[in-house]
Amino acid sequence: MILILAPNTQPDSPEFRQLAAQLDGLQGITYRIHTERGEEQTLTEIYLIGHTAALSMEEMESLPGVERVVRVSEEYRILGRHKDDNRPSHFEYNGVRFGQDSLNVFAGLCAVDVPEHVEAMMKALRDNGQVCTRMGAYKPRTSPYAFQGHGKACLPWVFELAGKYGIKVIAMEVTHESHVDEIREALRQTGNPTGVMLQIGTRNTQNFELLKIVGRQQEFPVLLKRGFGITLNESLNAAEYLASEGNRKVVFGLRGMKTNMGDPHRNLVDFAHVPTVKRLTRMPVCIDPSHSVGGRFRAPDGLLEVQHVTAQGVIAGANMILVDFHPHPSKALVDGPQALLLEELPGFLEDVRIAREAYEKRVKLARP
Ligand code: PEP
Ligand code: MN
Repeated sequence: MILILAPNTQPDSPEFRQLAAQLDGLQGITYRIHTERGEEQTLTEIYLIGHTAALSMEEMESLPGVERVVRVSEEYRILGRHKDDNRPSHFEYNGVRFGQDSLNVFAGLCAVDVPEHVEAMMKALRDNGQVCTRMGAYKPRTSPYAFQGHGKACLPWVFELAGKYGIKVIAMEVTHESHVDEIREALRQTGNPTGVMLQIGTRNTQNFELLKIVGRQQEFPVLLKRGFGITLNESLNAAEYLASEGNRKVVFGLRGMKTNMGDPHRNLVDFAHVPTVKRLTRMPVCIDPSHSVGGRFRAPDGLLEVQHVTAQGVIAGANMILVDFHPHPSKALVDGPQALLLEELPGFLEDVRIAREAYEKRVKLARP
């Protein structure tokens, strides 16, 4: 059960103390307080855990400071959608809105290599009206002998270039607690020229200790990728770990499932789950067509298969696209074969716009 308090209820107010005293008196119930500081108001929610079935909604609603009560089902208590639950399905970070109703494109390099390539990428993004990108500094690789990413050494110049080209959010994978500290420190040293969305990759979806660490900070939003060999339910529970630790600025990423049934694609495209995740939870949903398809295959109609699956995700309501581009794919240190070229960026964006428009028309048709 969630108690939603009146906006700006202060934890040191008499009202809050009275409420806490009443909750302390409930048998078999513990509670956790979650505070969300927005620009205009501070919202506090109290999560009751334990034998909540015996509690009456009316009684809880009459407690001091309580504005609304939501009875949650067992699953995805914080991020899930529950009956009569009108909690928001969006958040804002560094001036960019992430919601189940918006769409952001994160085109960029799978792995940061040299400043010339990063700068060419960011310039192309700016010239095409984009404020988000993807840049991998810490790369989890199958082989220990493969390039592991430049790590913290590249962060200052990547962030400075982002600032130079008006990039507001960089999706960047982290695989260890220390990476979060390194990113925070590099942003501070460079004067916060940009923002970072921490990405948890498919190999770490169930790295619960990493989830807890990333969940305990509220400074950076998180892109959690679905685990490539586990059920959707297991991956959604992984997202709930982040929220249960305090960070509910979570985007859920679909990136294809590992199975030979997807051959010749790198992974079996799973974008049919875009509306499913939006129905089960309040998270915005990201699609990663690059790691799903894994190559520059071109269909006889002239479109790349990466474009086709992107459109399939967008027409189903996807809210974010994480897609690999590179100025010289043959020189890319990671995943060059699946990268799109900078000159393909305008066409890619236009294709996305067409699919999004079709999605919006489909929604209107369903809800005239
Ligand atoms: C990536 O986005 O660079 C990546 C490694 O993705 P995934 O975790 O989906 O394999
Ligand atoms: Mn990659």
